[in-house]
Amino acid sequence: MKQTNLSVFVTHSGCPHICSFCDQRTISGHTSVSVNELDELLKTQQPILEKSGTTAQIAFFGGSFTAIDRDYMESLLKCAHSYLVRYPKQYTSLRCSTRPDCVDDEILDTLERYGMRSIELGAQSMNDEVLAANHRGHTAEDVRTASRLIKRRGFELGLQMMTGLYKDKPEYCIATANEFVALDCDTVRIYPTVILKGTELDTLHSEGKYDSFTFEQTVELCAKLLEIFRKANIPVIRLGLHASEDVSGNMTGGVYHPALREICESRLFYKLMSGQMTQPGKYTVYTDKRNISRAVGHKGCNKEAFLRSGISFVIKEETGTLVRAEKM
Ligand code: SF4
Repeated sequence: MKQTNLSVFVTHSGCPHICSFCDQRTISGHTSVSVNELDELLKTQQPILEKSGTTAQIAFFGGSFTAIDRDYMESLLKCAHSYLVRYPKQYTSLRCSTRPDCVDDEILDTLERYGMRSIELGAQSMNDEVLAANHRGHTAEDVRTASRLIKRRGFELGLQMMTGLYKDKPEYCIATANEFVALDCDTVRIYPTVILKGTELDTLHSEGKYDSFTFEQTVELCAKLLEIFRKANIPVIRLGLHASEDVSGNMTGGVYHPALREICESRLFYKLMSGQMTQPGKYTVYTDKRNISRAVGHKGCNKEAFLRSGISFVIKEETGTLVRAEKM
């Protein structure tokens, strides 16, 4: 049975915060869904899911689901829940993303009642200096408190982080990832900062007071983050913003690349392989089928990089193996 997320964007109109990076309409590429639109979407998708033998989690994304107008939130939940009840073979559960300071027992009671299974928190960083400098309006302790509550109540916990915000440092991002692991989250999303027109980051950038991490720094850092989460067995379900003309057309800086994840995974595999291929020569690299393109690298970049050090390799499939290199 195939599984998918049916994403519904719920922007936070009237949000009282002024996060330095935020231009919600551009990031989501959508305006908020109405209850009628949601109903129509679920009605239209149901036979398509049935025909293809796919189950879907209905996902409310946009960043602050539990902070939006309560009646609006409940009407969306009610509508989605009615499809969970009527079509349990197509619609399995609900998912949402929200702010760490907008979660308490009362709101979790409501979410639970309507079939919410997964809650993602936009933590962004576990460094209080970075959170304050970017006007997030919550602290790292809020993330810890909300995360523990979500886990205690039996929901699946997702944590989202950004890299390269104002005042951020690579070591802060590594510490954030290690804290995510300690919080025992079930999934992670990593978003390198994209500087969007009209945001505070854009102003700071144009005044020369701020720049995000470079592309190279981001790739190097994200490869390390992927390794931290891989070792902890925590799936990284997203790395980088979704491809969108709104984002590419509105960015004034930062890191955005449609193949960013592939490039970072290539770097991770380069590191894993270089730990085993230390001398020039020919090697056989054994790896699982799903890792072959990562080992070769994005557009063959790993092959080329090793060749520059006098190292060549052929790849052989070995089910379940991450990387095992043998000199020929
Ligand atoms: S990112 Fe910040 S400013 Fe933007 S909607 Fe979310 S809380 Fe509000």
